[in-house]
Amino acid sequence: MKILLFLFLVLNLYSLDIIDKPINFDQQRLNLSQRYIFEHYGLEPKDITIEPRIIVIHWTAENDFNKSFNHFKNSILAYDRIEIRKASALNVSAHFLIAREGTIYRLMPENHMARHVIGLNYSTIAIENVGGEKNLDNLTPLQFQANIQLINYLKKKFQNIQYLIGHHEYKNCQDLSLWLEKDKNYKTLKHDPGAKFMKALRDELPNFKSCSKTIQ
Ligand SMILES: [Zn+2]
Repeated sequence: MKILLFLFLVLNLYSLDIIDKPINFDQQRLNLSQRYIFEHYGLEPKDITIEPRIIVIHWTAENDFNKSFNHFKNSILAYDRIEIRKASALNVSAHFLIAREGTIYRLMPENHMARHVIGLNYSTIAIENVGGEKNLDNLTPLQFQANIQLINYLKKKFQNIQYLIGHHEYKNCQDLSLWLEKDKNYKTLKHDPGAKFMKALRDELPNFKSCSKTIQ
């Protein structure tokens, strides 16, 4: 009986409630992803499998769950995303979406490339949080806890993950060998998820590296 209880505790430690809620990942999205890898990173892999090395935390800039999900659902980028549309018609996506009450949804395979951060898509896993409308930090304590659990789950699964960054910090990673973007002028200004949320995460997860232009 004691052994069973021990096994139960160990299994619980390694398991996490994740609900699969797939976005559209059809042949068109696969093709556009491969083209993105070629045009922006100069690579010609046979598929869009990545080896995760960095976790990037985002907010969706939208407080509604369904609107946030629909933002990622289609394979083709919406026409109003003028700023990034000239770089590729591939829609943005994320591996995970965390609802306001902390439920974790997996939107796509964890080791497929998502388009979510300039320069680093080929080595990153994206965690999106519903919230941050009008760039106000309103992420909830339940989302914070879910981020910590999910990051720990990912680190156990992909042991080469060393970095944890907020989307607003991505430009600090330009000196890493993992930065692959060929177009030096392709940059956008990001505010998510903000310094306060990242500091709180790092206080709980001190073993991850952050990017810094001066310290590598
Ligand atoms: Zn973002």
